[in-house]
Amino acid sequence: MFKKILVANRGEIALRIQRACHELGVKAVMVYSEADREAKYIKLAEEAVCIGPAPSPLSYLNMPAIISAAEVTDAEAIHPGYGFLSENADFAERVEKSGFQFIGPTPESIRSMGDKVSAKQAMIRAGVPCVPGSEGELPDDPVQVRRIAKAVGYPVIIKAAGGGGGRGMRVVHTEAALVNAVQMTKAEAGAAFGNPAVYMEKFLQNPRHIEIQILADKHRNAVYLGERDCSMQRRHQKVIEEAPAPGIARKLIEKIGERCVAACKKIGYRGAGTFEFLYENEEFYFIEMNTRVQVEHPVTEWITGVDIVKTQIMVAAGEKLPMTQRQVQIRGHAIECRVNAEDPYRFTPSPGRITTWHPPGGPGVRVDSHAYTNYVVPPNYDSMIGKIIVHGDTREQALARMRTALSETVIEGISTNVPLHRELMIDAKFMAGGTNIHYLEEWLSQRQR
Ligand code: ADP
Repeated sequence: MFKKILVANRGEIALRIQRACHELGVKAVMVYSEADREAKYIKLAEEAVCIGPAPSPLSYLNMPAIISAAEVTDAEAIHPGYGFLSENADFAERVEKSGFQFIGPTPESIRSMGDKVSAKQAMIRAGVPCVPGSEGELPDDPVQVRRIAKAVGYPVIIKAAGGGGGRGMRVVHTEAALVNAVQMTKAEAGAAFGNPAVYMEKFLQNPRHIEIQILADKHRNAVYLGERDCSMQRRHQKVIEEAPAPGIARKLIEKIGERCVAACKKIGYRGAGTFEFLYENEEFYFIEMNTRVQVEHPVTEWITGVDIVKTQIMVAAGEKLPMTQRQVQIRGHAIECRVNAEDPYRFTPSPGRITTWHPPGGPGVRVDSHAYTNYVVPPNYDSMIGKIIVHGDTREQALARMRTALSETVIEGISTNVPLHRELMIDAKFMAGGTNIHYLEEWLSQRQR
């Protein structure tokens, strides 16, 4: 096992990784920007290194600063968390070339899964079902583009090969709008991701977002830890996640889970990863793979009893997976609400000082957050300030626990989306389970009227 790990992230996930390190008896070196000097995990840290000013390109995305922080503190490995450099193959490569272990897959895996066109091609080869669409990148010739769209069938969605975070996508309903939409998506993709390549998929009308969590070691062992339902999204950003997915037969999950495990073995994947699917009419369609720990990992941890972050560290250190597929048992139901510092009606960010922070507690309640009373939420980063996760023997019990947890939660000084979560937890359709990826936006548009 490592003696010391550098945590190359901020916020709740930095604290989560710090906790995992301490449980393993590993020292955690924390890094911070000037805006995060007062963070809880910095105060708790045995060692902390300032890596630059507030803007992330100068700090959390500053590769030389992070690698030299690892050098001066004698860390042996770097955990990238999620976001920032976590899916940057060049960073993983530089980390390993500098003599540190990158806690994640190989740079080659990150590169091939990071390009959605090559990821999809790898999945097709590995027998994972994908959304029907163009074979690879769209050509420049408008005649060919129209022909492909006709074969796929409208509506189609144009997606950037290098896209992420819900950006770089455009839905096209008619042939008249097609060529212009492709050109616009290409131009945006070139500017935003430095890669103008786009591809086409059939736009599924009412799918759910279902994803499979996997863990793999360096000895070609891999397991899947069941699924998560992340269909409650706004602007392609997840708001509520739960596990297991309501109403999907275990047989179907097992079948797709086994495909994901086989794909991991085929591509030589190691570490934690997520296969994201759209699910419609009892069919799964792969959309992308995330080669890192995800925000919503706690719901899976709770129903399986597996500590995903600790396992990431153990397999990076060369240990074998501590469980076989048969030992992975699903117990009960877990739900996560992401707490964002934002206006609960207009969704504008609401940074600033938290004057009261009173998180919920009690049986079956977990709060992952770096916030505290008098903590100042900096305006420079993502608005998520924490997550409330609950577990129950049944989905009904989990819902009741979440309602209680949200009613106990007091956050003052800034606006948060807690009132939105309170409304959703008593919404009849959400309570029934199985809402699709458009449900939350439709619900919001009716609420505003
Ligand atoms: P990102 O990497 O930006 O998150 P994804 O490919 O994972 O992009 O897609 C994000 C979301 O966009 C999905 O969860 C879904 O809501 C929507 N989406 C993507 N592809 C399709 C599709 N073919 N049909 C319908 N919706 C889609």
